[in-house]
Amino acid sequence: MTDPKAHHTLILGGGISGLVTAWSLLQRAAQRHVRATVTILEQSPRPGGSLVTERVEGFLVDGGPDSWIASKPAAAELCRDLGLGAALIETIPANRRIYVAHGASLAPMPEGVVLGVPTRLGPMLQTPLLSWRAKARLALDRVAPWASPRQGSTDEALGPMVARHLGREVVSAFTEPLLAGIYAGDAWSLSARSTFPALVDAAAHGGSLMRNARAAVPKRFPGQSPPSAFLSLRDGVGSLVDALVAALPPGTVRTGTGAVSVARDGDRYVVTTAEGEHLGADRVVLAMPMHRAARVVRSLDATLGARLDALGWSSVATAFFAYPREAVGRALDATGFVVPKREGRRVLASTWVSSKWPGRAPEGTVLLRAFVGGLGHEDRASLPDAELVALCRDDLSALLPLHGDPLFTRVYRFLGSSPQPTVGHASRVAAIREALKNHPRLVTIGAAYEGVGIPDVVALARRTGERIADEAPSTGL
Ligand SMILES: Cc1cc2nc3c(=O)[nH]c(=O)nc-3n(C[C@H](O)[C@H](O)[C@H](O)COP(=O)(O)OP(=O)(O)OC[C@H]3O[C@@H](n4cnc5c(N)ncnc54)[C@H](O)[C@@H]3O)c2cc1C
Repeated sequence: MTDPKAHHTLILGGGISGLVTAWSLLQRAAQRHVRATVTILEQSPRPGGSLVTERVEGFLVDGGPDSWIASKPAAAELCRDLGLGAALIETIPANRRIYVAHGASLAPMPEGVVLGVPTRLGPMLQTPLLSWRAKARLALDRVAPWASPRQGSTDEALGPMVARHLGREVVSAFTEPLLAGIYAGDAWSLSARSTFPALVDAAAHGGSLMRNARAAVPKRFPGQSPPSAFLSLRDGVGSLVDALVAALPPGTVRTGTGAVSVARDGDRYVVTTAEGEHLGADRVVLAMPMHRAARVVRSLDATLGARLDALGWSSVATAFFAYPREAVGRALDATGFVVPKREGRRVLASTWVSSKWPGRAPEGTVLLRAFVGGLGHEDRASLPDAELVALCRDDLSALLPLHGDPLFTRVYRFLGSSPQPTVGHASRVAAIREALKNHPRLVTIGAAYEGVGIPDVVALARRTGERIADEAPSTGL
């Protein structure tokens, strides 16, 4: 910190949440003519957290997230504000479909599946993914829906809610694999309200869930190709991290510096680092996974620590495979596939990266990604590289198939990085907010609070940075 009179904020965690908070805080402070400084402590050697992009032998590898959902504007707005508007890219139009693993083959995800539930009966009658009993059950939802809307505001898991309306097979074919892909979690324990609130609202109308869910999504005209559901950046999501770091004053991000504890010092805070350094701050932002934040605040406030620890989390790993195009024994004409739990495979989902995005693989080659781990199978995410690669390669080979050796493989691990908004999540978050009332200058942000996607965490971080700048005393520049 070079200005001892400035209002100083320490941000613990240099993922996208911490970086955006720092950037928006400094932007707003400059607009308000407030003297504010920020330091980000990041324990790992690089900023970005789960956002990690590497160039390997002419391939562009997004190790964690490769994109974000297009319907939530916060991430694209941030990119435009950082001068990355021209670098925003959409998925390749010809491949805007996804498959579902089905025995030894891949069946197309039927048209009209929205938020993990069918909204159109016609495509459901054709799909091999449902039995005739399940199809008859779905038809009943259209003509004589019997599931009454749930009374009151009690939370319930998404799986039972969908099963009540549309049958268990719909959950195992569509809802479960979608939730495994987004949350690395389990449809039978994840909160309906905290994952797909639009579906809860659709169910609350009463009558056909399929019809109500369909009304909740924008209409498409016949022959119109599906819009890109996702957006990314030409140089990978890591270019957003680079742009944020470049927009911050030099020295703002201190990598290789883990925070161990936070203590009060009168009206201020002192953060102790793993190296034993003591750093003072007017504000502290905890921008790390909540179970890590729990450890950092435990000695300051045991109740807050316990409440942060009560939020569940899971771990995943991604494995990447680069192959010559001819080594893959089928057309890669989709963005990839999801795997229902009932299939008994270890891979949760696969992205056909070079079919989903332009510019990810050199001509004549393909790049594939597999997800492993998730709730109940976290140990798989920690397997040694060779075992993890072999496990993924087995499952991919069985479904594609794959011939010969890959040009290269890469493994990325995200241990404890996937929050699990299970039933009761909203009350647990409310309890954290309640405990934070005793610490008005301490803030927690990240994927556990208002949604796990990049646009959700960006929106929360942006608001947080602006609020801190707005509340900082205006001493004049
Ligand atoms: C494999 C994977 C795929 C995903 N795919 C998508 C997707 O396609 N689309 C989408 O929208 N979202 C996706 N997400 C979710 C999205 O990546 C996250 O919501 C987002 O990156 C969370 O950012 P964050 O900064 O809050 O947390 P993180 O990225 O977890 O960053 C937290 C940072 O805190 C640091 N830290 C931890 N402890 C300490 C400490 N004691 N002191 C200092 N620093 C510390 C960590 O090293 C880390 O850098 C995915 C997530 C994962 C794991």
